[in-house]
Order: sequence, then C-alpha cells, then structure tokens
Amino acid sequence: MAKKMNDKRYWVGVDLGGTKMLVTLLDRSFRPCGRKRKRTQAQSGKDAGLTRMIDTIQAALDDAGVSPQQIAGIGVGCPGPLELDTGIVLEMPNLGWKNTPVRKRLEDVFGCPTVVMNDVDAGVYGEYRFGAARDARCVVGVFPGTGIGGGCVYEGSVLRGRNSSCFEIGHVPVDPQGSLCGCGQRGCLEAMASRLAISAAAAAAAYRGEAPNLLASAGTDLSNIRSGVLAASVEAGDKAVERILRDAARLIGRTCAGVVNLLAPDRLVLGGGLVEALPDLFCEEVDRSVKARVMPAFRDSCAVVVAKLGDDATAVGAAAWAEHVQH
Ligand SMILES: [Zn+2]
Repeated sequence: MAKKMNDKRYWVGVDLGGTKMLVTLLDRSFRPCGRKRKRTQAQSGKDAGLTRMIDTIQAALDDAGVSPQQIAGIGVGCPGPLELDTGIVLEMPNLGWKNTPVRKRLEDVFGCPTVVMNDVDAGVYGEYRFGAARDARCVVGVFPGTGIGGGCVYEGSVLRGRNSSCFEIGHVPVDPQGSLCGCGQRGCLEAMASRLAISAAAAAAAYRGEAPNLLASAGTDLSNIRSGVLAASVEAGDKAVERILRDAARLIGRTCAGVVNLLAPDRLVLGGGLVEALPDLFCEEVDRSVKARVMPAFRDSCAVVVAKLGDDATAVGAAAWAEHVQH
C-alpha cells in the first residue's frame, strides 16, 4: 500500500486491553524508542476510549520528538471479536465498545496505514519475529491467563479465518462434564486450566486447610491469588497447589498434543504471567504430555519454549505485522 520512504522510519504498536493500553514506538529495526501506558476507562464508552487511544499515541510520539509524518504504520492488538479486513472492533470486553472503527479513526488522524488484529495473534507474531519462535515454520502460542489465549503463525503468516481471527485453543472442549465456560459451553480447556480455574481450585484447597502457605499469604479470596502468589505457595511447599498447577499444565499439554497432530508445529511457545512465574513447571509438564500423546512421527518434532518478549509482545508484534502486510 504505502511506498517505502526514508523519512517514514517509525512504527507504532498498540496493545489495547480491558484495563490498560500500552503504546510502543519502534524504530526501523523494531527497537523500542518510546512507550506510554494508560489505564482504559470502562465507563466512558467508545468515543472517549478512541480519543484516549489517539492521545496516548500522540503522547508517545511527542515524548520521542517524532511527528505523525514519520510513522510508516500502526498495528493494534486487541481482544474480543474483530472484523480483520475493515479493522472494526465488534466488541471490547470490559470497555462497552460496539462496532468501533479503530482502523479508520487512526488512519484519519495519523495518515498512515493501520492494521487491527487479535492481541494473542500479535503476541505470537512478535515471538515469531523477535522472540522465542524466530524462524520457525509453524509456531503455536498458548497463553494461560484469565482465559487461555492461542495463536498460530504458519510460514510467516498469522493463521486466520475469512474475516475473523481464529485459534481459540481455550475453547477446545476437553471434558463433556467439565465446568461452565465464559463462552456458554461446558468443559472448554480454559474453564478447566486457566489461571482463574487454577486460582479457584487453590482457594478451595486453602479453605480446606491443604495449602497453609497460600492461606497465610493470600487467604481464600480469588482476586488475591495471582500468578506470583501461586508460585510462592509452591515454592513454600504447598503440595496441593503444585498438584493443581501440574494437572492444569498437563491438560494444556494434552490439548496441544491434538494441535501437534493437526499442524505439526516446530515450536510451541508458552507465555503469560502464570508461565513466567512458573516456567519450568509448565514447560516440563506440557512437553511431557505432548510427547506422551502425539503420534510417534511427531514425538520429537516440536520444541516447547517459554515466550521471551513479556509485556511488549502484543504491541511489538502488531507493529511488525503492520510492516509485514505492507510489503
Ligand atoms: Zn469456552
């Protein structure tokens, strides 16, 4: 679309989340050279939310002394259903946005090509370009958090549907009698093995007196039982919590085994706060479950690795995808 021009040498990546937005300014080599983080405001609606995003991008440019004319493109990663080709965000969880023309607004204001994509896809693409999955032929990313996000980069392209993102590994059914999922179905992977599911089981263990360290440090309130608290509880010797985590990781691994049989990825990237807090436990269990359950031909075909880019992955990946689609 845009010609490569020497003065357009910066890229903007936006990670638009339910509680915060992160804007990263990147140079030609995708090295971060500016960053702005703001809380998103759930109650203010889509017009105020869009204005806030535009102001945050502008503030990141101002801080770095970069003008909009120097921006080659913008990439936005966000959760929730999207129309990929038009860049319309159909719905934003927690923000009350409906049918929001994110791409058009940013193109009007900043005068450069803009792409809107799923936030997990952006993160996996970031890992493929700059992180733990560089040069892989097929990368599958799995990010257990409040839900379980998934994405796939196949031969350099983000795998997608006709007009929507895909790879909802969190909603693969794993247990017909399992817990209810946020999507309305029963027994999806994320209803059984997300951080939320793990924290709920850990809270019950603490309540029953089976996790004394967790009980002392965080009590039984779900909102206090975050990734770092779970890791500390395992470290302090709460066997019940460790077992809950290993069971969840094994279930994720079993589901990944099905994905390996379908796509034969050469890299499986695990990421998100929970994996960052317990990288060895997750890698070990997922790797073992995958190896135990895939067809023999695939047994040693896929390396299980931990994501490298941390909080930057989505913003950097979205910006890099904006570059990719221009060339
Ligand atoms: Zn579901």
